[in-house]
Amino acid sequence: EKEELKKYINKKTITKDGESFKVFANIANHKDVEFVLENDAEGVGLFRTEFIYMDRNSLPEEDEQFKIYKKVLESMQNKPVIIRTLDIGGDKEVNYLNLPKEMNPFMGYRAIRICLDRKDIFKTQLRALLRASIYGKLEIMFPMISSVEELFEAKKILEEVKNELKDEQIKFSEDIKVGMMIEVPSAAILSDIFAKHVDFFSIGTNDLIQYFTAVDRTNDKVQSLYDPYNPAIIRILNTIISNAHKNNISVGMCGELASDPSFTRLLCGFGLNEFSVNPASVLKTRKNICESNNSENIKLAKDILNYESSDPIQRLLS
Ligand code: PEP
Ligand code: MG
Repeated sequence: EKEELKKYINKKTITKDGESFKVFANIANHKDVEFVLENDAEGVGLFRTEFIYMDRNSLPEEDEQFKIYKKVLESMQNKPVIIRTLDIGGDKEVNYLNLPKEMNPFMGYRAIRICLDRKDIFKTQLRALLRASIYGKLEIMFPMISSVEELFEAKKILEEVKNELKDEQIKFSEDIKVGMMIEVPSAAILSDIFAKHVDFFSIGTNDLIQYFTAVDRTNDKVQSLYDPYNPAIIRILNTIISNAHKNNISVGMCGELASDPSFTRLLCGFGLNEFSVNPASVLKTRKNICESNNSENIKLAKDILNYESSDPIQRLLS
């Protein structure tokens, strides 16, 4: 099968009837870029930067971060690289920050919430990102946005950092796209509004499914309820993608669902522009897209919205 997949290296991701999609890859550190290139991903759809902050004793300084971002951007040879700002908290602990234990860490002090509170940490990362931006095609993405105010505040801080760099005559790219993860129900419901204020969405299904269905993604006891075939999930995915398109922004998916072959055609039918998958799944995802007809994908997508329960949806997609 591996040999068979190799045929899809250097191929476009395009359906039999000519509809184009993009297959990007997720990375956790700069070493992963090798696998991204080996598997011919068209970009990086999610760089989880929190790993730069973990397994150490103090915060990473600006220069250390700058070097990592620069390396990733250079290695990707001008393909888009979506770098997500810090997403710690939840299941990702950073001991040296001495954050108090919480009853509900996934709903607590996490990700953008920490960054808007600890502007020092956030600004250091944004400075490093902006400085690295001249070495490739950087796009910046904010995680866990749950209100318009948070997005505005994050964008305001980004502008502040840009102005500071300008004053210091430090160069950065003038056309960095700014996007957000859609992974909290309130952001999904307001995606028509959010779409007016960002350049792109990326759907984080790992969290979106957990928050939408109130099922802890790490609790084995309730794993059967962690169900992407739940019609509520199917509907909200369609809503998010349509709202992005109504506002002429592109929409990707960087949660695990993007790598699930039973969802590929449905997501094409909904019009998802970009699939960001683990590097090992890039060619398989491209193959599945290339072997499909988008007119059939669209029909599947329309049909599926009429289903009332999970089992028949799962049967149809698997
Ligand atoms: C997600 O929630 O789907 C996502 C991609 O982010 P993470 O898994 O890092 O929370
Ligand atoms: Mg998430």
